[in-house]
Amino acid sequence: MGLLTEFSELFLPRRCAGCGRENVSLCTACLHLLGGIPRAMEPRYGTIPVVGIAEYTSHLSHMVVNFKDNGRRDILDPLALGLARSITAALEMTHCSSGPVLVIPAPSSQRARRRRGGSHTAALARRAAALAPELSLQVADVLRSHRRRDQVGLGARAREENAWGTQLIDAGQVNALGRTAIAEAHISILVDDFATTGATLAESARILASVQIRPAIAAVIGLGRGGTRFVSPFTV
Ligand SMILES: [Zn+2]
Repeated sequence: MGLLTEFSELFLPRRCAGCGRENVSLCTACLHLLGGIPRAMEPRYGTIPVVGIAEYTSHLSHMVVNFKDNGRRDILDPLALGLARSITAALEMTHCSSGPVLVIPAPSSQRARRRRGGSHTAALARRAAALAPELSLQVADVLRSHRRRDQVGLGARAREENAWGTQLIDAGQVNALGRTAIAEAHISILVDDFATTGATLAESARILASVQIRPAIAAVIGLGRGGTRFVSPFTV
C-alpha cells in the first residue's frame, strides 16, 4: 500500500467500496450482493463450468477495482468470504466432498504485481482458504500473464483471441508447490474475481495441463452476462 493511500485512509471519510455511500466500508445493500445464491454457467468460450455468487454489476465491479487498484484492503474479508462460498458451491457441483483442493488464482502480470504489492486474486484465494479451513484449500499461485491487454470494451470473439498466448507457468512456483501436492490434490479449481466469456479461464486451463494440473471447474465472485449460458441453479 502506498504512503498516499495510507495517508488518505487516515483523513478522508470512508466510502462504500461498491456504491460510494459515505461513512461505511461496505453498505448493507452492497454486502448483500456478495450473499447471493450461487449459480453455475457454461461460458461461451469456456472448457469448464464457472460458479459465481453474484451478477457482475457496476457496484460489484467498483468493489473489485477499489480492492485491487485503490488499496481498499478493508473489504478483503467480505470479498474472500464471497469467493469461499463460490468455491464451496463449485465443490458441491463436482461432488468433491474432501480436500486437498488445489486453488489456482487467475494470473496477473509482474507489473501489476509490483504495483499492487502482489497478486490480488492470490490474496483473495489465500484469505478464502484461511476463512474456510474445512475446505482444505491449497493455493497454487503458478500462473503469470504477459502482454495482456485490457479486456474491457472487447467483444466476445476479440476476448477469446486476446486471451490466447497471454499466460505462462511460473516454473519456480510449480517446483515450490511440488509434484506430490499436485498429484495428491482431489480436485483443482481456477479462481478469479469475475468471469464473462470464460476465455481467460479457458486459456489458464489449457496451459496448466502442461504441468499436469487439470482444473475441473472455476469459481468466481461475479458472473458477467456477456456470452455465458445458464447451466443450473443451486438451491442453497
Ligand atoms: Zn454500497
